[in-house]
Amino acid sequence: MNKHSLKITPGCEHQISQDAISQAALQVVEGLQQAGFDGLLVGGCVRDLMLGREPKDFDAVTNATPEEIKGLFRSARLIGRRFRLAHVRFGREVIEVATYRAAPSEVDEDRGGHMVLSEEGRLLHDNVYGNQTEDARRRDFTVNALYFDTRDASVIDHVNGMDDLRKGVLRIIGDPATRYREDPVRMLRAIRFAAKLGFRLEKKTAAPLRELAPLLQDVPPARLFEEVVKLFHGGYAAETYELLRQYHLFEQLFPLTDQGLALEEEHFPLTLLPRALANTDSRISEHKPVTPAFLFAAVLWEPVRIEAQHLMDEGSSWLASLQDAAEVVLRDQLRHVAIPKRFSFPMREIWAMQARLERRGGKRAFSLVEHKRFRAGYDFLLLRADSGEADPELAQWWTRFQEVDHEEKQRMVSQVSGGQRKRRRPRKRKHASPH
Ligand code: ATP
Ligand code: MG
Repeated sequence: MNKHSLKITPGCEHQISQDAISQAALQVVEGLQQAGFDGLLVGGCVRDLMLGREPKDFDAVTNATPEEIKGLFRSARLIGRRFRLAHVRFGREVIEVATYRAAPSEVDEDRGGHMVLSEEGRLLHDNVYGNQTEDARRRDFTVNALYFDTRDASVIDHVNGMDDLRKGVLRIIGDPATRYREDPVRMLRAIRFAAKLGFRLEKKTAAPLRELAPLLQDVPPARLFEEVVKLFHGGYAAETYELLRQYHLFEQLFPLTDQGLALEEEHFPLTLLPRALANTDSRISEHKPVTPAFLFAAVLWEPVRIEAQHLMDEGSSWLASLQDAAEVVLRDQLRHVAIPKRFSFPMREIWAMQARLERRGGKRAFSLVEHKRFRAGYDFLLLRADSGEADPELAQWWTRFQEVDHEEKQRMVSQVSGGQRKRRRPRKRKHASPH
C-alpha cells in the first residue's frame, strides 16, 4: 500500500476560481455542510479545475449515508447497483453525491461483509463505507482523488495527486495489478485520461496493461459500451485509439476489427478508422453532434467489408453481401461490447447505404437523398473515398448532386442512367480472395 501523508494546498496556492464551479454543485456541498456533514467536491472536476479545464460534470462526496442525503435534498434519487449513490437534481444539472467508501484491500474482515470479489479478484460490490482517507485510496488514479473544500478553497490530497498533476503523470493508486483485477475498466480509464489530459502513464501503472488486457472479457458488455463511447467521444479519439492498440486493449474490445487491421496492414496501411476518429475529434471541438452509430460503423467497417467481399466472391450482390456481413459481424461483436439497437440499426443502414449510393439511375438518387440515413451514409462514403477505398468520382457526384438545382440533378441522373457506369464493384483487395 502506498504510504502517503495528507497534504492540504490552501486556496492562494492554486488557480481554482469559485466562478468555475457550478451553482448546483455549490448548493449541494453547502447543503451537506449546513446539515453538519462533510461536503466536498472530488474526482474529475477537481482535477479539471486545477488544470484550468472545464469539468464535464461535478461529483460531490460526503460522510452522510445515501438515505441521509435523500433526507436533505428533495430532488435526490438513490441509484446504482455496484454501489449506491445519490443524484441530486438542480434544474437540468445533476450532481452525483457519493458516501465515503473504502477499497477492499483497506477493509479488515469484520467490515468486509458487503465486499464481494469474484474468483479473478474482481470487485462485485463495494458498498462498504469508510473515512475520507479510505475513500481517496479506493479511487483509481492519484489525480482523480483530490478533494476540494469550497469553504476555504483548499485542496485536500491523501495520495500525492498534486505532485502528479503538476508533473503530468497518471498513476494508479495502490498495487496496479490488484487494482486492474478489481475492476478491469480501470485499464481503459488509464488510456482515456492519459489521452485526454496529455499525461504520461507512470511506468508501474502501464506495466501490467498488456498482460491483463484479457480481463476485459469479464466485464459486462453493456458497461463496455458506455466506456467505449467515453473513450471515443471524449474529444481525443485519435490518441486514445493509438494507446489502446499499443497496450493491446483494442483487440479485447474489437477482436474482429483488430484481425482485419492486422491482415490489411501487410498490404498497405489502413486509414479509414484513424480518419473517422480524427473527424470525430474535430466535430467535438466544433461542438457538432456525434453519434455512436457512426463511430461503431467506422470501427467495425473493416470486418464488415472483408466479410462482404467473401460473400460477393460467392456470387451475392454488393447490397445483400453488406447486409449479411453486418449480421455476422454484429453477432460476434455484441458478445464483447453491447451496442444498443437504437445504434446498431442505423449502423446497418450506413453500411447498406454504401451499396445504395452506387445505384443512382431513375428515381433512385432522388429518393436516396431523402433517406433518413443519407447524410451519414454519404459522410461514410466520403471517408471511404478519402481512404482510397471508394471511387472518388462517386463521392464527388453525390457532393455535386446535393448542390445543384433540380434540372441539373436530372441531367446528372440521366448521365449515369446512360448505362456507362452503373454498378461498380468496390476495388478488390489482394488478400480478400485466395486466388
Ligand atoms: P470525467 O472527466 O470523465 O467525468 P472523472 O474522473 O470525473 O472523469 P467519473 O467516471 O466521473 O470520472 O468518476 C468520478 C470519480 O470516481 C473519479 O475521478 C474517480 O475518483 C472515481 N472512480 C470512477 N470510476 C472508478 C473506478 N472504476 N475505480 C475507482 N475509482 C473510480
Ligand atoms: Mg466525472
